[in-house]
Amino acid sequence: MRRRLQTVAALALAAAAWLAPGVAMAGETSDWVIVVHGGAGAVTPGSYSPEDEAGMRRDLGRAVETAVRILSEGGSSLDAVTEAVRLLEDSPHFNAGRGAVFTADGENELDASIMLGRSGAAGAVAGVQGVRHPILAARAVMERSPHVMLAGEGAEAFARTQALEFMPAEWFHTERRRRALEAAQQQAASGGSVPAWGTVGAVALDMRGELAAATSTGGMTNKRWGRIGDSPIIGAGTWADAGCAVSSTGWGEYYIRAVAAYDICARVNYLGEPLDVAARHVVMERIPAMGGDGGVIALSADGAISMPFNTEGMARGFARSDGTMRVALFADE
Ligand code: ASP
Repeated sequence: MRRRLQTVAALALAAAAWLAPGVAMAGETSDWVIVVHGGAGAVTPGSYSPEDEAGMRRDLGRAVETAVRILSEGGSSLDAVTEAVRLLEDSPHFNAGRGAVFTADGENELDASIMLGRSGAAGAVAGVQGVRHPILAARAVMERSPHVMLAGEGAEAFARTQALEFMPAEWFHTERRRRALEAAQQQAASGGSVPAWGTVGAVALDMRGELAAATSTGGMTNKRWGRIGDSPIIGAGTWADAGCAVSSTGWGEYYIRAVAAYDICARVNYLGEPLDVAARHVVMERIPAMGGDGGVIALSADGAISMPFNTEGMARGFARSDGTMRVALFADE
């Protein structure tokens, strides 16, 4: 109860603005942590209407608060990342679930994955349509199938056997993504191409010291030919082991080739690099050297957080059991 009251008090304080790390409440240790992202990319102060910016901050905050409720009551990191991502999938402000980007054919094809740290259990779905919460489908693959990854119609058939919710195609559509598709197609017609992305993800550490990671996306605007990015690929878009958890966002082709999420944790585990050094190396050096960009959220079993991005901004937020909570969009926040 004491912990819950402190959490509620901390959330009330944090609702207004970023809290400096120094405001952590005395006597509390970081025995649980939640970190979420709503995608890296051209996230700049001028790129959203005031309503959209407020909506993004509000929905990121809700995802964090939902995970805080779970973790502060002794719930699992797996439930925390599942619920945080599930809420962000329902938000029209992010490229996952409702509000996902359009394919070249004007459809939404959704990818998601989830992983549990100590056991290494993992599940993923790729290129699914109509599934309201692809992260629940990924979790069902992990928990209730003998497989790790299901794709397309087969994944949808499996989701139906699990009684997961389906929505009509229009439910996923937003005007903003429609305009983005038109812009991308005009650029493609004139020989240019501007990759546009979003994606949502979460990593969490629970009171038992268990890490989990989850990622969900609509992929890239104007994608075709069944293109699948890094988000549903274990090791690229999502990774969790006993000591480290990562969810990626960015230009998926490069994150796949860099095996980005796994590489960060491998550097921590095998080279003994601090989490932030490892995450920065991959996001700020390796991936740009290959020609890609994006960001990650990373969390280690000692509660350290790293959120590097080499794009203009990245929607992100976190909360810890010491009472710290933050939500931000832009680079200078
Ligand atoms: N990484 C995702 C993909 O390439 C997109 C994103 O992060 O926004 O599908």
